[in-house]
Amino acid sequence: MDQCIFCKIINNEIPARRVYEDESTVIIKDISPQAPVHYLAIPKKHFAGIQNIPSSEMELLSKLFSAITKLIADESLDQNGYRLVINYGEKAGQTVSHIHVHILSGRSMTWPPG
Ligand code: AMP
Ligand code: ZN
Repeated sequence: MDQCIFCKIINNEIPARRVYEDESTVIIKDISPQAPVHYLAIPKKHFAGIQNIPSSEMELLSKLFSAITKLIADESLDQNGYRLVINYGEKAGQTVSHIHVHILSGRSMTWPPG
């Protein structure tokens, strides 16, 4: 995906503040944080949404959530609570068409989300 900003980050074509990386996942700091802690967990393979992942590639989601679990443990995010968010589509607020999980923590949050 030539124009995808997250593919460019994954390929080291543009810089990002990486906090975790393995063979299938990268976790970066969000450039415009919406909470004291705001990371983006991104699978290295480009898919727009989880519904676009073929069943043969579903393992990437377990790897993605394993990486998130490690980060939660490393940074003790469970001590004060955290929120995971996946936006899909314009109406849900997706601005980058490459699956990513927002990891938000460090402040009180309201429900329902806006
Ligand atoms: P979404 O709106 O759910 O698609 O989330 C996209 C997120 O990517 C937003 O929170 C942006 O602030 C973030 N973002 C966009 N460009 C960059 C970048 N170059 N480095 C880090 N985060 C970015
Ligand atoms: Zn991409």
